[in-house]
Amino acid sequence: MLKNLPDIIIAIDGYSSTGKSTFAKLIAKELSYLYLDSGALYRAITLHAIENNMIAARNVIDTERLTASLKDLDIHFVMTEKGPQTYMGERCVEKKIRTMKVAAKVSPISTLPGVRAYVNEKLREEGKNKRIVMDGRDIGTSVFPQAEIKIFMTADVQVRAKRRAAEMEKSSKEPVDLATVIENLTNRDYIDSHREISPLTQASDAIVLDNSYMSLEDQMEWFRNLLKEKFLTK
Ligand code: C5P
Repeated sequence: MLKNLPDIIIAIDGYSSTGKSTFAKLIAKELSYLYLDSGALYRAITLHAIENNMIAARNVIDTERLTASLKDLDIHFVMTEKGPQTYMGERCVEKKIRTMKVAAKVSPISTLPGVRAYVNEKLREEGKNKRIVMDGRDIGTSVFPQAEIKIFMTADVQVRAKRRAAEMEKSSKEPVDLATVIENLTNRDYIDSHREISPLTQASDAIVLDNSYMSLEDQMEWFRNLLKEKFLTK
């Protein structure tokens, strides 16, 4: 990789299941940076809300109880060879937070100001020394508007759904209905893009990556060129 690359923050935002985390992990590995999956925090909070009956029918959330309970939540990551694993206290919740049950509720939970403030504080603390790759929906627009590199990822919805279904089948060893996955992705994108606080939107200085028909190696090649353009020509 580039010699003398300054310590930077790399923010990767974009639509659901565009492969942000896979790409972010590869970049982090190549640069020996920390990788942080902001969606995992929103998913863990959602699991906590589901398990404690804080979400009633039609996604009516007990906002007060949920917000008050956040201060006692110990969500953290344990780094393993498989990548960061999400923990709540002593319990590894990595598999549980990736289920459809959580995916169906996470976007309404993520609209709550108290939840976003809690997550943002954690994310900013992790990024204070830079050398971090973070993926999510509002990293380049709201969490780290000063990030040196901002990438906005998109891909064809059919391609995204097939990738996500394959991932879920691999993890749960059960068949996953593609139409349900497409519906979930479309719903989440809609709620994420239309919420009042820090909606999913492309930062004006972000560079778009449409990876519908790109391999991981193509994406890494694209990224290496981006770094060269940004830091070699100066
Ligand atoms: O990235 P992932 O698909 O795991 O994110 C799950 C959900 O968490 C998103 O659909 C969105 O509702 C929320 N999220 C968010 N802001 C972020 C990251 C995720 O609102 N920075």
